[in-house]
Amino acid sequence: MSAWEENVRRVTPYTPGDQPNRPKMIKLNTNENPYPPAPGVEKALRDFDPDCLRLYPDPGASALVNVLADYCHVKREQVFVGVGSDDVLAMAFMTFFNSEKPILFPDITYSFYPVWAEEFRIPYETPPLDEGFHIVKEDYCRDNGGVIFPNPNAPTSLALGASEVEDILRHNQDVVVIVDEAYVDFGGESVLPLVDRYDNLLVVQTFSKSRSMAGMRIGFAVGSPRLIRYLNDVKYSFNSYTMNQLTLRLGVEAVLDEAYFQETTGKIIRTREAARRRLAGLGFQSLDSRANFLFITHPEYEAKELYEALKKEDIYVRYFDAPRISRYLRVTIGTDEQMEALYGFLERYEALHRKER
Ligand SMILES: *Cc1c(COP(=O)(O)O)cnc(C)c1O
Repeated sequence: MSAWEENVRRVTPYTPGDQPNRPKMIKLNTNENPYPPAPGVEKALRDFDPDCLRLYPDPGASALVNVLADYCHVKREQVFVGVGSDDVLAMAFMTFFNSEKPILFPDITYSFYPVWAEEFRIPYETPPLDEGFHIVKEDYCRDNGGVIFPNPNAPTSLALGASEVEDILRHNQDVVVIVDEAYVDFGGESVLPLVDRYDNLLVVQTFSKSRSMAGMRIGFAVGSPRLIRYLNDVKYSFNSYTMNQLTLRLGVEAVLDEAYFQETTGKIIRTREAARRRLAGLGFQSLDSRANFLFITHPEYEAKELYEALKKEDIYVRYFDAPRISRYLRVTIGTDEQMEALYGFLERYEALHRKER
């Protein structure tokens, strides 16, 4: 090891799901939306005048902040935007989690949380989910340096009701509580209405899942004006121009098309419920999902083997080689056609499995 390496900040990076890109593959492994972005987004892309790229973008991203404030029924000073919610969350960890006391998040959850905690040297503890993979809210009602959890949780797909989240908030008024609502538009209950009553609540959402724009990188946070001011201070001391001109333009269009948003999220919810029934018929158990994915297990199959077998057919799902969940697969809800291809394969797999026994 060279001497200079002793002073390197070392981190174990987050491992994203595979991002292969073949024309006919069925990609159900990273919770992307199978439908295109809203028609207004495509039109704005076609009409985009590259001349505006000469200029720096608006550092306050006000066009996007304004439509989001209207959409969330809050004031402009209550909205923060960033390069995907990963950027927003990382900024929030840095801004709000500076206590000596450990922050709390579930043992099974979005695997970026421990990565940021390590990176920013934030002590953390991970209260275990119960046997059925539910968050035990009592575990968050003790002395801590901050709280964060996704609702619905990933990769379990289970959600807490807004009143349960409020219970957690009521017991945590001296720290910042971040609720990561990446999947809330697929049937979860948002706690956005609580931001005016709890000035320590930060609600984070993303355009990556319900708005079909993972490739554009847009996330946002809503909270009390004071919370948002602190976040902006940190952002401006880092990089003022996080949101580029094109992203701002397309992001606005995505928010304005409420009808398309309702239509596509509704379709995904319907496909998800049909998928639960079909998969149950094939012997799978799935948790009661409020997200755009199912967390499934089969009493007879090794999840890893099934994952590999699916991959050979160019069907990608997510397998986590981690304690407690190694018998599970996370399957993103695709189009009905994509799901049919999945069921078709699983029927063949079942027949093969039966023959082998
Ligand atoms: C997908 C996801 C995010 C990050 O999404 P971005 O693409 O960075 O907006 C954050 N939290 C959870 C729980 C997610 O699943």
